[in-house]
Order: sequence, then structure tokens, then C-alpha cells
Amino acid sequence: MPIDAGILIDWFDERARDLPWRRADCTAWGVLVSEIMLQQTPVARVEPIWHEWMSRWPVPSALAAASQGEVLRAWGKLGYPRRALRLHEAATAIATGHDDIVPSDVDTLLALPGIGAYTARAVAAFAYGKRVPVVDTNVRRVVARAVHGAGDAGPASVTRDMADVEALLPAAEAPAARFSAALMELGALVCTARTPRCAACPVSGSCAWQRAGRPAYAGPAKAVQRYAGTDRQVRGLLLDVLRGTEEPVSKRRLDVVWPDAGQRDRCLASLLTDGLAEQTADGRFALPGEHS
Ligand code: SF4
Repeated sequence: MPIDAGILIDWFDERARDLPWRRADCTAWGVLVSEIMLQQTPVARVEPIWHEWMSRWPVPSALAAASQGEVLRAWGKLGYPRRALRLHEAATAIATGHDDIVPSDVDTLLALPGIGAYTARAVAAFAYGKRVPVVDTNVRRVVARAVHGAGDAGPASVTRDMADVEALLPAAEAPAARFSAALMELGALVCTARTPRCAACPVSGSCAWQRAGRPAYAGPAKAVQRYAGTDRQVRGLLLDVLRGTEEPVSKRRLDVVWPDAGQRDRCLASLLTDGLAEQTADGRFALPGEHS
């Protein structure tokens, strides 16, 4: 076996970060919120916001009762704010259709709005201890190296990636769920994208990439994500203005955030289309659900 489950779980027991959503007293709702926040945002930025959300909205129905504007304001600078609206929609569906309890099986989770293949399985495994493959970027990279001997993961394929991880899982549910968390942690802390710390890796003795002499990655190049100057940055600046005020703002207040009028207007239009902003009857702009 390229990854010995017992060795990896022992390492996890000893070295895993003590994160609030991993503690025994964390609810399934807390796990779900953390998983949505952690997609595309690092732990250090998520942790304070997650604590705020948990004390303000400890159950799905509490979040469902908040306005979209309040939710977007509380999302702060986590980025990709459509996630906040999706979480709000999922909370509403859980409150009304599931007695305010986050479902435990993958298919029911997948039927909730905004819950995809990764999140459904992460919640089933980490909140309910189920034996399901949980595949994120970190896990794909560890498997590419330790199992396939490649320097990095190639293009994602949900079916193949899940089959790869499924084959590694211990047979029993509880250790399988622990193993899933451990694999992800190994990718986050040790088998990192740029500089894997193989000397500190618990599975280095059986890692196929190590054994093959660490060959260079030969797959297709990955797109480098930039931020400065992108529509994502401009949308963030516009939303900052809306978040920072209780009252709707005039277009002029938004126009000062970015010099390129064409890009600025395109971004404002896309915020309206995505439901992240609303225009009031008198032509001003606000977060959704607060002034309509
Ligand atoms: S030995 Fe190195 S490449 Fe292999 S799994 Fe460990 S950190 Fe990753």
C-alpha cells in the first residue's frame, strides 16, 4: 500500500492542527460552514469569521432568518462572496426541509442548493464519520505523488479521483473518515505544492514519487491565478463600499473605486446579475434584501 493508513492516522493524531471545526463538540452545521468557507480561503482568514458566524448563527434556521445583506456583510473579506449566498440558501433548505439538522448522507447533501461533490462528502466524513472519498486539491496532489509517482496532479476528473481515494480508505467507517482528514492535512502541511517536506513525511518510505527519484511534473501546465486588475478585484472593491454602509449608495460613490469605467460598469452589472447587489427604486445600490 503506497499510503499506510495506520501510519498516516498516527501522524494526524500527533501533528494535526487543532482547528475548531475538528473538535468533538463542533456540530455538523459548524463543519458545513467551515467547509464552504475553506474553499479558496486559507484557514487563518477563515477561523475568526467562522467563530463570529457560529456565535451569531449557531443553527441553520438562525442563518436562514438573516437577510442576504447581513450574510454578505458578515462574510467580510473571505472572497468569492457567492459562497455566502449559497450557504444562506442551503441553511434555508435545511431549516425548512430537514428539521434544522444537516443531513448525513451524501445524496441528501448533494440535493441541497450549492453543495457540490466535495462539500457533501466532506460533511458526511468529518461531521458524521462516514466512509466516503473526500477529494480536494491537496488530496489529489498527495495521491498523484504517493500513489502514481507523478510530481503533481493532472487535470481533475471527479470519477477517477474519487476511485483513487476510495481504494486507499480503510474498510471501517471511523478510521476511513480519520484517514480522509489525515490525507488532506498531509497535503496542507507536508506534501505542499511547491516544496514538499519529504524528510518530515510519515509515508515517505512508500511514496512512489520518492522511490522514482522525484521526477519533474510532466503534465499540462496549470493556470496561474492572478488577482490584481481582475474583475474579481473590482467586484470586491464595489462590494466593500456596499458592505461599509447601512444606506444605499449613489453610482458616484461606486465610481471612485476603479478608474476604468467599462470594467467597473461590467463588474457592477455582474454583481446585480449574481444577486450580490440590488438597485433601489431611486437608482441607488445596496446589498441584497436590505432595502427592497
Ligand atoms: S514523501 Fe514527499 S512527495 Fe511523497 S507524500 Fe510525502 S511529502 Fe509528498
